[in-house]
Amino acid sequence: MFLEVTQLQVQYPGRTRAAVDRVTLGLRAGDVGVLIGPSGCGKTTLLRAVAGLEQVTAGDIQLAKSVVSSASVHVPAEARRIGMVFQDYALFPHLSVSDNVGFGLHHLPRQSREHRIQEVLKLVGLERSASRYPHELSGGQQQRVALARALAPQPQLLLLDEPFSNLDVDLRERLAHEVRAILKEAQTTALFVTHDQMEAFAVGDVIGVMSEGRLHQWDDAYNLYHRPATRFVADFIGHGVFAPASVRQVGQQVIVQTPLGELTDVAKGPLPCHFVDGECDVLLRADDIVHDDDAPVKAQIVRKAFRGSEFLYTLELASGQTVMAHVPSHHDHKIGEWIGIRAQVDHVVTFNRACALQNREMCQMPCASQNTCAPVSFQSPA
Ligand code: ADP
Repeated sequence: MFLEVTQLQVQYPGRTRAAVDRVTLGLRAGDVGVLIGPSGCGKTTLLRAVAGLEQVTAGDIQLAKSVVSSASVHVPAEARRIGMVFQDYALFPHLSVSDNVGFGLHHLPRQSREHRIQEVLKLVGLERSASRYPHELSGGQQQRVALARALAPQPQLLLLDEPFSNLDVDLRERLAHEVRAILKEAQTTALFVTHDQMEAFAVGDVIGVMSEGRLHQWDDAYNLYHRPATRFVADFIGHGVFAPASVRQVGQQVIVQTPLGELTDVAKGPLPCHFVDGECDVLLRADDIVHDDDAPVKAQIVRKAFRGSEFLYTLELASGQTVMAHVPSHHDHKIGEWIGIRAQVDHVVTFNRACALQNREMCQMPCASQNTCAPVSFQSPA
């Protein structure tokens, strides 16, 4: 691993809770890592600790196998060869684009400096704007100049803190894809902070979900969505609900009884003995709920949100259980209407009900069953 963070703790003076609490993660050279989580969960503090801008209380940070931060070691920020891009671009308004980009290259002879400026401007697609000034550029272009400036001195690691949050939503996702392409072409290792899932999925090879200082999962987007490690991750990524369910075994077959009926085509998964009396909570994603007029289970639409090609319906079953469903937007039903729904679950994810506390914090309780707090996840046949 190029960047290795081990059991890292950062505690601000006078605070009872650590802003970063025993975080462990590894980032391979050339990979883009993303930290995502609600405001105040510790993303920026973790990024700043890696940059050398915060002292760490415990644990350590290694860059290229060398410890740069621990309780006893603190390599100064300027000696870490780390580049940073912030949300407010921080370009010098009185300098041209090429002078902004060349700002960190004063140690180079003039010709090499000019060459490197041209090279990075080409990389970010702004070679024709070299003589323009920041105020003559759009927000997206200014952010690309900031990226070029950070990449110019060839940092061994690039840190990006919410770099697109000042930009329009449409532009943000496009720029996120562009930035990923630029980072890949430059073969840069980067750690990126955002609170936007779409952005995280667009740029990250590996994504970390944080809450209250803890890193709940450090994984690729597919696993975060389909194999969430904790209830918090399941709740934070995508739309869905937890519904009470029970697991039982009939012969060779495992059956998960949910409020939407039985899930029977389960290839492998939790056995009833994984849970006390087989009782658990099942994650029902909006993608798992299919609108079907012939389905025996009916639900009432209580809320709907138009998402272009589909609606996100919030539905209530006769039992009072809430579920969510993505339904193609040509099925435009009214609030209050009852529609038929059924569950079509590819990845069945169940959580121990005893661990419901996890929703707020990672559960520290020993579980009643052999299962730990990790969900029990399994895949049904296609
Ligand atoms: P995020 O980037 O996820 O929004 P931060 O890392 O900024 O979260 O903050 C994590 C926690 O640390 C929050 O509770 C915040 O109030 C606290 N915090 C951040 N910076 C400081 C600071 N300089 N002094 C004291 N507490 C801080």
